[in-house]
Amino acid sequence: MVSAIGDTTDRLIEALEAAAAGEEARALSGLSRLQRDTERVLREFFAGGSAAVEAELVPFFDELARMARAVAVLHSVPAAGRDHFLAHGEMAAGIVVARALAARSLPAVGLDSREIVATDDRFGRAQPDLQETEKRVRQRIAPLCERGEIPVAAGYIGSSHAGATTTLGRGGSDYTAALLGAALEATAVQIWTDVDGMMTADPRVVPGARPIPTISFDEASELAYFGARVLHPLTLAPAIEKGIPVRVKNSRRPDFPGTEILASAESGEDPVRSIAFKKGIATVDVVTSRMLMASGFLRTLFDVFARWDTAVDMVSTSEISVSVTMDDLSRLPEIRRDLERLAQVDVARDRAIVCLVGQDLKFTPGLAARMFRTIEDVNVLMISQGASRRNVSFVVEEREVEPVVRRLHAEFFE
Ligand code: ASP
Ligand code: MG
Repeated sequence: MVSAIGDTTDRLIEALEAAAAGEEARALSGLSRLQRDTERVLREFFAGGSAAVEAELVPFFDELARMARAVAVLHSVPAAGRDHFLAHGEMAAGIVVARALAARSLPAVGLDSREIVATDDRFGRAQPDLQETEKRVRQRIAPLCERGEIPVAAGYIGSSHAGATTTLGRGGSDYTAALLGAALEATAVQIWTDVDGMMTADPRVVPGARPIPTISFDEASELAYFGARVLHPLTLAPAIEKGIPVRVKNSRRPDFPGTEILASAESGEDPVRSIAFKKGIATVDVVTSRMLMASGFLRTLFDVFARWDTAVDMVSTSEISVSVTMDDLSRLPEIRRDLERLAQVDVARDRAIVCLVGQDLKFTPGLAARMFRTIEDVNVLMISQGASRRNVSFVVEEREVEPVVRRLHAEFFE
């Protein structure tokens, strides 16, 4: 499975948005810059000459330009058109990789993923029809593998029952890889990216952060909220559910083992697998004596967040108060107004969540004590232990978060 080259998808989105704003010239010049940059990559990639592949991609870029002009005229993009447009990044990359393998005398066969991955028509976040996709994978891909050929297909894309091109959501190539790996009952799924895998902490904040050799699917999922940039673990579910290990590898350091994601993984000597954090959090404290012994209050409270389509992340309650955190503050004024009809409300911004994740945290006595002793001079504003007891999270002032993470990392890993 192949993903679009570099930041191609972002650049396609930019061009499309320019077109939708009626800025045809900006859209077209963005696309021709993308074409030139792609050709530059091809020249490095095909030592024996890239002219033939460049020529093969010309119709792709022509089609993108045609679509951009139409969008600029219409001043809007239909959802189906958007997916068809964005799919070109992956389709082009599929051709490039198939030709590159062939140029090295490997028996590559390029496939059109739209004929293989069947989805519904929720454009932009299409859901695959697992049974139908599995059937097609067995018919179309398995025989190639058996003959020793190398099937090459675009990730991220599929097609609806009506035949429209769909996309599975940003980062969707991993999802395609997991789907196909599961359908083929593969021995392993490998995701080749440009980092060493998942890390014990964000290396930009913690210089001593190190790669995580193995992690369980559940732990990886807990970390996903914190933007563990490497991958979105839920997209790996099809493979994990079938017991197929997924390994994240660095294409710039192929010998480095990377991170293996398994259905379950023992934690070894460190009870903590990774320390994550998220800034830009607001905490909302709702205080009312009406809650005392009353049923239905939480429901009323969460209805307010649901009404404004805002996710709540951490929650902690006492007999007369509920505190929650949120990171999407766009509806905060409306939420606050509605909550104030129910209770006394205190909102504080510029806070951050710190989260320790580990499969065996629940079996590790004294962990919380060790954790809070390490940062005993820090004002901890809210605490919660996830129901899975695979994570312990707490809230601090945003300006304190980086030193807090460094100290915890030193305590648990260094
Ligand atoms: N190219 C798509 C994206 O950037 C899909 C992927 O990279 O997995 O979101
Ligand atoms: Mg990608």
